[in-house]
Amino acid sequence: MSSVRTRIAPSPTGDPHLGTAYIALFNRCFAHRHGGEFVLRIEDTDRERSSSESERRILDALRWLGLDWDEGPGRAGAHGPYRQSERRQSYADHAAILLENGAAFHCFCDESRLAELRREQLRLKRLPGYDGHCLGLSAEEVAARLERGERHVIRLRVPREGECVFEDLLRGEIRIQWAQVDMPVLVKSDGMPTYHFANVVDDRLMAISHVIRGEEWISSMPKHVLLYDSFGWPRPVFCHMPLLRNPDRSKLSKRKNPTSIGYYQAMGYLPEALVNYLGTMGWSMPGGEEKFGIAALEQCLELERVSLGGPIFDREKLDWLNGRYLRENLDDGQFVARFAAWAFPPRLVDAIVPALRQRVDKFSEVSELGGFLLAGELQVQAEDFAHKQLDCAACRRILLFSLWQLEALPEWSRDAIKACLQELAARLDCKIRDFLFPLFVAITGRAVSVSLFDSLAVLGLDLGRARLRKAIEALGGISGKQQKRLEKEFRELGQA
Ligand code: GLU
Repeated sequence: MSSVRTRIAPSPTGDPHLGTAYIALFNRCFAHRHGGEFVLRIEDTDRERSSSESERRILDALRWLGLDWDEGPGRAGAHGPYRQSERRQSYADHAAILLENGAAFHCFCDESRLAELRREQLRLKRLPGYDGHCLGLSAEEVAARLERGERHVIRLRVPREGECVFEDLLRGEIRIQWAQVDMPVLVKSDGMPTYHFANVVDDRLMAISHVIRGEEWISSMPKHVLLYDSFGWPRPVFCHMPLLRNPDRSKLSKRKNPTSIGYYQAMGYLPEALVNYLGTMGWSMPGGEEKFGIAALEQCLELERVSLGGPIFDREKLDWLNGRYLRENLDDGQFVARFAAWAFPPRLVDAIVPALRQRVDKFSEVSELGGFLLAGELQVQAEDFAHKQLDCAACRRILLFSLWQLEALPEWSRDAIKACLQELAARLDCKIRDFLFPLFVAITGRAVSVSLFDSLAVLGLDLGRARLRKAIEALGGISGKQQKRLEKEFRELGQA
């Protein structure tokens, strides 16, 4: 029986990210190559930032890409539940073990003491971090303060001397001075575990043999290996994959490249082409082929051969590969079928067709009125936004504020979009007709068309965002300084 088990552990705090799909792909292929299981775990211990809408979108995006899981939400297994918010008891039990064996301690320091400590450390040009104050409390005092119900957290005791040594599959031995490592909180004052603690406990309880994740987690490794050692658990194999980069080699970020998987879906990429492209990030097939499917990757993946050169996510290369899939993998009938499924999803038929039908007398008028729904990003010019009451700066402000307001929507539906934009117009004290004008042009490319709210609901946040950003650029863009000023104004509006 194979004992290889891997996992992807997204936090449901935003858009489904390309990086999540990239890491999921390598985890899934590695597990399956060795006859093992690929687990999906939802890391939702940050209750303020986590949302079920984000979780749903992440799961949908992974399914769309064909990166489904063997165990996880919706796929019962022997190690569930697979949402951390449903595993609280096990964290409490494990924290008790570490308190008992002295690896962890109660810390009663309040915010003001920690802030003061930090200020002092910065002043002395020292590394900010917990100073071990509560390690000095006697067992009696701790018991008495707990008895009184004093607010506290549980921290991990980190050595102050020596170094932490661990192995990374791609990098070999890594050493980090313990003095560089802060004593992390394991359990917050509300009883919720932190990322480090829940992540390690769950990897162990879910019998994860290989932790394959992005290199941004290397700096957390001392805390993680200390936890394994404190429990007396063997460490799994750790493999930190290289970060995806923009063509200018900066870390892939949504400012330079759309990072939401939903954007690529809305732009009409084939999931198999996107997955293939992600499979070329840091990896090359032994035969050098650039076009290959998940099954082929599964057959030959060797993590040791992943290159750390900083893979570049290049849209032009992705377009080229996607074009090859369209031409080489689909016959004419399949092309039409896949195109139709992309262009006319049920939500489009339900939301737009009833209104569109009322406005045309023959089919040949449909593309004029509704073609923008299938057009990806639009080519708009500053002149398209010419308006009696609004100049370019006013249009940019409306577009940017709308974008921020829409990004904060907990649920993407016609009614929610409508209510949020109407409220924003009222706060800006702007007539709704005038307010909606630049949005209309940005989203539909025209001054009149079918309903803006329905269109936005159908296009989705990812494409809506891309079109709003494009319009802002067409109107001259926003400088860093202007952005700061607008952010402030937007915050104040929110409090009005
Ligand atoms: N929840 C973490 C994330 O969102 C998981 C990191 C890990 O794989 O350990 O990326």
